[in-house]
Amino acid sequence: MKGFTSKIVHSDRQDTIEHGSLHKPVHATVAYGYEDARDLAAVFQGAQRGFTYGRQVNPTVEALSTKISGMENGLASVCFGTGMAAIGTMLFALLRRGDHFVSSAYLFGNTNSLFMTFETQGIEVTFVDATDSGEVASAIRDNTKLVFVETIANPRTQVAALEEIGTLCAERNLVYVVDNTMTSPYLFQPSTVQASLVINSLTKYIGGHGNALGGAVTEMGHYDWLNFTNIYDTYRGSDPHLWAITQIKKKGLRDFGAALAPEAAHHIAVGAETLALRMDRQCANAQTMAEYLNGHALVERVYYPGLPEHPQFDRVAKLFRHPGALFSFELDSGVDIWEFMNRLQLIIKASNLGDNRTLAIPVAHTIYFEMGPERRASMGIDESLIRISVGIEEIDDLLEDLRTALGQDTG
Ligand SMILES: *Cc1c(COP(=O)(O)O)cnc(C)c1O
Repeated sequence: MKGFTSKIVHSDRQDTIEHGSLHKPVHATVAYGYEDARDLAAVFQGAQRGFTYGRQVNPTVEALSTKISGMENGLASVCFGTGMAAIGTMLFALLRRGDHFVSSAYLFGNTNSLFMTFETQGIEVTFVDATDSGEVASAIRDNTKLVFVETIANPRTQVAALEEIGTLCAERNLVYVVDNTMTSPYLFQPSTVQASLVINSLTKYIGGHGNALGGAVTEMGHYDWLNFTNIYDTYRGSDPHLWAITQIKKKGLRDFGAALAPEAAHHIAVGAETLALRMDRQCANAQTMAEYLNGHALVERVYYPGLPEHPQFDRVAKLFRHPGALFSFELDSGVDIWEFMNRLQLIIKASNLGDNRTLAIPVAHTIYFEMGPERRASMGIDESLIRISVGIEEIDDLLEDLRTALGQDTG
């Protein structure tokens, strides 16, 4: 069984099937009881497989973790209550005061905010233009432990030099973290660029239906954690490839407690079954919409990696199955952003991305408002920038909505 979707829909059956159930059941429990107290102790001590307490383990959540490891072709995954919890817990579990890491400057806004918080806690970060691996290389210092990039940055769709940074990290013995949320494992496999750890916000494309929050970290097996001094002795088990993910789960989840609820895990697991089908449709819709707007007189600029003028068009064509399902654009200065947005009838004015429904948001005034005009300008975010997360609606309906919303400006 090799196909991406075959693996997902048959994943739960590879383990013990409870009552023949085709879906992993929702185990709504916090604790797990044992007949023999010695078994309880053995499970706590890691000598025996089993479950202890819901903050770190739950059978429904474990089944989803296994599914995500399969999708990413990784060794093991840990799930969290949100994507932010996955990023924050992973970094807090692996980095210490005095450490430094290099991050792409083109980041999801909340990740940017989190990294600013790290600065106040004695963990330093340097933001660089990660579309160029040379910029990453020149930011590396003696105390650099890790490099963090996203695949396609939201909202301006810059694409990091994923392959070259992978080579650089391998040469310099650095942990390479790739946030694969915007591409999902269906469009891009970070394993092919030697990623050490992969982040997915399950809230977005993997869950897909906008009905559950979740996040995951996956160990890819490429990094030799023998070289990483921040692993506690307790987590230096037999296979060094599993040291970091064990520390993230055992210490990170225990300390910070951002566990994924079993009900949310079930929603996400069901959503994941149609990831490939949804993304084929969403990406095709995005390509057509981006091309339409790109040719429109009232649109100043369109940012979509599927347009030949996009600076990383060739990189995307080489690395990704499709150029993604999200684009952004700037309106002509004569068009009022609020009037345009309020004329949209089908496309919903809402935050979030990766939903089955097409969503639009005026970026500078909402998700990037708090960071202020200077940092916005440094990230290339114009005041008129609108982000569209493309859904699975019929393309004719989507084009009609854009046409109507733009058409009235021509008077
Ligand atoms: C949404 C998002 C996150 C955070 O995920 P949540 O589930 O909303 O916490 C992280 N990275 C990227 C690229 C995202 O788009």
